[in-house]
Amino acid sequence: TPDKQVWNFGAGPSVLPRAVLEQAQAEMLDYQGTGMSIIELSHRTPEFQALQDRLEADFRRLLSVPDNYRVIFVQGGASTQFSGVVYNLLASRRAQQLPRADGAATPVVDYLVTGGWSSKAAEEARKLGADVNLVVDSKKTLGAYRGVPDASEWRLSGERAAYVYYCANETVDGVEMRVPPQVHPDVPIVCDMSSDIMSYPVDVSRFGVIYAGVQKNMGAAGLTVVIIRDDLLERTPAADATTNTSPRFPSTYIPLMLDWTVHVKNGSLYNTPPMFSNYITALYCAHTLAEGGVTEMERRAVEKSTLIYDAIAASSGFYRCPVDEPYRSRMNIPFRLREEALEKLFLQGAEARHMRQLKGHRSVGGIRASVYNALPVEAVHALVAYMHEFRQEHQQ
Ligand code: PLP
Repeated sequence: TPDKQVWNFGAGPSVLPRAVLEQAQAEMLDYQGTGMSIIELSHRTPEFQALQDRLEADFRRLLSVPDNYRVIFVQGGASTQFSGVVYNLLASRRAQQLPRADGAATPVVDYLVTGGWSSKAAEEARKLGADVNLVVDSKKTLGAYRGVPDASEWRLSGERAAYVYYCANETVDGVEMRVPPQVHPDVPIVCDMSSDIMSYPVDVSRFGVIYAGVQKNMGAAGLTVVIIRDDLLERTPAADATTNTSPRFPSTYIPLMLDWTVHVKNGSLYNTPPMFSNYITALYCAHTLAEGGVTEMERRAVEKSTLIYDAIAASSGFYRCPVDEPYRSRMNIPFRLREEALEKLFLQGAEARHMRQLKGHRSVGGIRASVYNALPVEAVHALVAYMHEFRQEHQQ
């Protein structure tokens, strides 16, 4: 046991429930009587298969995933799915049958760019050769990634789009969209939920694809979960070719490890999985269920984030949150002080009080308090008390 209580406000990989870490520690030398640790065991053993089955079942239960959706756990981080989405969805039967604009290599794909992560995803689609339409480009319209432009300003492509892509929670910028955008009913919605999955109930049936790296609210880095509606895995014979016949995108061949159907067919065990991540993620999902599931996680997220936003609001401008109110994230709360030197001082004081990893992302600076599911409310009380104390000392 550490001799001091450390509060981890890091944005990812993030704080894990203490109970999960303790269980992992207790069985690390002997997993369920095997005499080995879970990370030494073959992924083809009944013990590991049971763990994998439990992981998928608990995950499905937590998010009430309907039966017509597949759930796969894959490697490469959420970033790998920036490309995975493009390859797989452009190969889908629906996309193959859509019209293309004159000279375009692919049907149009719609992206809402509301922060750093969706910007990277849109850029990857463009580099792969997809016909990318920016429905929203918040930085251009609003001057910064500080919200989402009014729907009247969106430029959706309607039913011609192969999919509409957005990021539910922009981890760097603190912009969250907990409700999917209104789009043509035939167009599948794709969502990157890496940093707010498991923090509120989701109506999965409104989505074509949801994906998330597990390392914030549900596990240890190494796995990405992808939820895919069955019909999006259907392909035309041409799209399911086994050889690449085109020197450029859209390739008729999807690289093996990017191909969702490979992982679906193999129950996410096509090759050696990152065992430790599967293990911790299974423990974390079971723990979340035992704690009351995503409804309880939402209650906690509201409680914790409100404490911080209220402290900012009550600071007479000493602390400033750059994000427009309706889009303020419950997971990542960025705020600024009047000058960088003061922010540095704030971070030093936080460190001295064992509050860790509060520095804003290197691309935006400032402070960022991430309050993921496993962060106890006591940590937030400590932060808010410190914010108050620091203001008393430095407000002019
Ligand atoms: N998408 C979001 C919203 C993220 O927060 C992150 C990482 O922080 C990523 C994608 C990239 O995830 P990974 O590091 O697993 O590739």
